[in-house]
Amino acid sequence: MEQRALEHGYGVEERLQSGECALEVSGLTVTYGEKPALVGVAAQIPSGSMTAIIGPNGAGKSTLLKAALGVVPKSSGTVRVFGEALSRQMHRLAYVPQRASVDWDFPTRVIDVVLMGMYRELGLLRPVRRWHREKALACLQRVDMADFASRQIGQLSGGQQQRVFLARALAQSADLYLLDEPFAGVDAATERAIIDVLKSLQAERRTVVCVHHDLTTVPDYFDRVLFINVRKVAEGSIATTFTAENLQKTYGGRLATTHIDQLRTAV
Ligand code: ADP
Ligand code: MG
Repeated sequence: MEQRALEHGYGVEERLQSGECALEVSGLTVTYGEKPALVGVAAQIPSGSMTAIIGPNGAGKSTLLKAALGVVPKSSGTVRVFGEALSRQMHRLAYVPQRASVDWDFPTRVIDVVLMGMYRELGLLRPVRRWHREKALACLQRVDMADFASRQIGQLSGGQQQRVFLARALAQSADLYLLDEPFAGVDAATERAIIDVLKSLQAERRTVVCVHHDLTTVPDYFDRVLFINVRKVAEGSIATTFTAENLQKTYGGRLATTHIDQLRTAV
């Protein structure tokens, strides 16, 4: 934490105090039909931080990302991105959806998936130029997938597809990356590759928010946590907020106390 604060010139907590928020939601309520998925959620994600969104299945974690992106309608509340309305800052956001939610049965080459991330630079119906391809390839290189550029996305393993989604997000050159369970169902090598890329994004002063399900890696991967279970339970630095009490409040009886103690020793 201290080392990172030095690299950034000043710490994440100080940036939050200085009011520099990559994402700020307040009073956020989202209802599908009758049932509320999120109720009155307020959260502040400081610019340059790496935040884990934690909570049980059905807690509204994916919904929170989708509401931040404006892809599900809010019943009430506000979303601000870098201090402005979402519509003005949309170009600074990149999103990696939960892999299980994407159907890649239609034939698309890996390089084209990455180029799709660059549509703003490309413009609709304009020709793809060599430098576009070179940038897309460089992004694939960063996730160690350049050799697969001409393969059909549907033929890749789950972990390889996840790397390609990350390459597409990298191609967007965003400032705020929202990822929904990027490590779900990937092998250890892919997990390492993904976390290395995310940490390098943070070293470039970009902001990373991940829905994350593996509690054991939270202290190692992230510097902040946001606990939600329909309502916000807690948010803050790992040191102050990744506590047995907050885990218990978020998961209730579902998490054994011994398990929580083991996690705490990792902090
Ligand atoms: P999480 O990502 O934390 O597992 P979600 O945000 O996906 O939770 O879902 C929160 C709740 O909203 C769940 O009860 C889920 O069944 C419901 N839900 C999510 N998406 C929809 C949808 N498109 N239509 C109806 N209900 C939904
Ligand atoms: Mg989800």
